[in-house]
Amino acid sequence: MNNTTHKTALLGLTQDALVELARGYGLPAFNGKQIAHWLYQQRVNSIGEMTNLSKKVRQLLEEHHITGVTAPMDMQKSRDGTRKYLFATGHERYIETVTIPDRERCTVCVSSQVGCKMGCVFCMTGKQGFQGQLTAGEILNQILSTAEADRITNIVYMGMGEPLDNLDEVLTSIEILTAPWGFAMSPRRITVSTIGITPGVVRLLNECEVHLAISLHTPIPSERQKLMPIESVYPMADSLEVVRNWNFGLQRRISFEYIVFSGMNDTPAHADALLDLLAGLRCRVNLIRFHPVPDTPLPATDEQRLVDFRDKLADEGLTTTIRASRGQDILAACGLLSTNTRCGENPPEQTQ
Ligand code: SF4
Repeated sequence: MNNTTHKTALLGLTQDALVELARGYGLPAFNGKQIAHWLYQQRVNSIGEMTNLSKKVRQLLEEHHITGVTAPMDMQKSRDGTRKYLFATGHERYIETVTIPDRERCTVCVSSQVGCKMGCVFCMTGKQGFQGQLTAGEILNQILSTAEADRITNIVYMGMGEPLDNLDEVLTSIEILTAPWGFAMSPRRITVSTIGITPGVVRLLNECEVHLAISLHTPIPSERQKLMPIESVYPMADSLEVVRNWNFGLQRRISFEYIVFSGMNDTPAHADALLDLLAGLRCRVNLIRFHPVPDTPLPATDEQRLVDFRDKLADEGLTTTIRASRGQDILAACGLLSTNTRCGENPPEQTQ
């Protein structure tokens, strides 16, 4: 049996929570701040490395805690340099994380849930179903424990799961990433992508400063409902009303993700409807090539249709880009993440 299973992780606790934890052991508050410093600024893997804590304090912590920094159990590298990592998050629960190097930039795409409840028909994670929530520590570990950890410039919450369906943990991870006592990252380097859970959109906008990306995929509600069941619970129109009335300022960005299916959402009529829907909103549309998933008869669009669709939107003044497809050969591209096939393998022991 894993002898660390009764111990709780320190990674994912805010500085205030670590101060509380220290106090709970009868230790001074500054010990909690020291632990935050070692975890988030020094990025140590073990409690033993927290050398300005006394030996007695380190022993006490080791009795009850692990850092929660966990090495990936597998990694695949794409021809284009994209890497896909597999992390264990508990017994028979696995997530995938993708790193995408691009010249000076290196983006990490993190998962926020094991699987997903939302059932979007074009998505492998949706087909996997929902197996559980990630903790803030499990989200942060994906940023700390890849080979590219020291050169990450951007973080996108676009991996497995719907971030706003696990919003408390997502917000805690963002607090730790952006706090001066944490990773001290600019929130402008972080983007959270959602299918538009309206109350979550409101909370995310209010409680942090990160960029927002909304998965739209078609401007026509009846068609969107067939692709994304969430439309019947939280219509896109509601989230759009929220963002229309939100002052994003000059720095904070709102973008819309749009997977393009041939003949289904890339016609001139769809372009016109999209232009109407987003008229007057300072935003960007990211067009995404569809990568076919098993048992889903959705047609990918061809390059010419994609370019024509982009040009029509751009000619009318809507900032529109075609996202480069990365990591397709290792199933790391948008919509292809799934850990179904991994279930049944034994997770590794966590490092301390
Ligand atoms: S697209 Fe996002 S929200 Fe929809 S099923 Fe996939 S992971 Fe879940």
